[in-house]
Amino acid sequence: MTKVVESVAEMRALVTDARKTGKSIGFVPTMGALHEGHLVLMREAKKICDVVVVSIFVNPTQFGPNEDFDAYPRTWTEDLAACRSVGVDAVFHPLARELYPEGWGTWVEVAGVTDKLCGKSRPTHFRGVATVVTKLFNIVQPDKAFFGQKDAQQVIVLKKMVRDLNMFSEIVMVPIVRDADGLAKSSRNAYLSQEQRQAALVLSQSLCKAREMANSGERDIKAIKAAVMNHIQSVSLANVDYVEIYSFPGLAEMDILDQDALLAIAVRFGSTRLIDNVILTPKST
Ligand code: AMP
Repeated sequence: MTKVVESVAEMRALVTDARKTGKSIGFVPTMGALHEGHLVLMREAKKICDVVVVSIFVNPTQFGPNEDFDAYPRTWTEDLAACRSVGVDAVFHPLARELYPEGWGTWVEVAGVTDKLCGKSRPTHFRGVATVVTKLFNIVQPDKAFFGQKDAQQVIVLKKMVRDLNMFSEIVMVPIVRDADGLAKSSRNAYLSQEQRQAALVLSQSLCKAREMANSGERDIKAIKAAVMNHIQSVSLANVDYVEIYSFPGLAEMDILDQDALLAIAVRFGSTRLIDNVILTPKST
């Protein structure tokens, strides 16, 4: 039975009861509009933890003023059915005023890894993410929380937050789930026209090209970045926001592929901004 919980007090009571009987708690925070990428996180949590809590909350504080908060897809009935199909124990579905009541005003800011990639294009985004995840962790008190590599920088930011603030929960990263043709699953794919969706295949294709280059011994970061950029720019509907390579997980600048690296890209198709990434591993010589 999947329980729907709307209040902080009820959510706390549910996890307190579970803890009393020695059960471990797995947590999957989402903004809803659930797809297979989210379900994989839930299944992973079910494998490892006794009780699985999913949150469905379109978090206003992680959207910039001109971003898609109002338009973000909200599909509650289907989302609840999806959580039930996976056997989730509780879905936390609070109203915005339950998490951000009148007079609320405390932020969590993670320094160092938030000023590049998506943090550069969306300057207030990670502050909103870190703040809501802290609040959700305080409410759900998970042993393990599951996040997708799809948002690799988010995982890096949250791992740093957990370490810096001595939080109790462990962050588990789960690989990217893709459609059969390679497009990474995303709630925002619903915004794409048929033509844009076809054009968006250039994302995964350019990442594959980069991985092939790395696998065949290319170590020059500039050359890999240039190949990815050229490939994306050959598609007229694609408007590059960034193509970057940083060390993984440290997010340090690098010139030579001599350690694991995150190749991350963000590209606009019309007004829809999509992200994707791959972790490049240097070929051992
Ligand atoms: P969102 O609802 O977009 O905030 O995503 C909730 C969680 O699902 C985040 O940890 C995302 O990284 C993860 N996620 C979204 N899309 C995918 C995907 N295609 N593969 C794996 N995880 C994903």
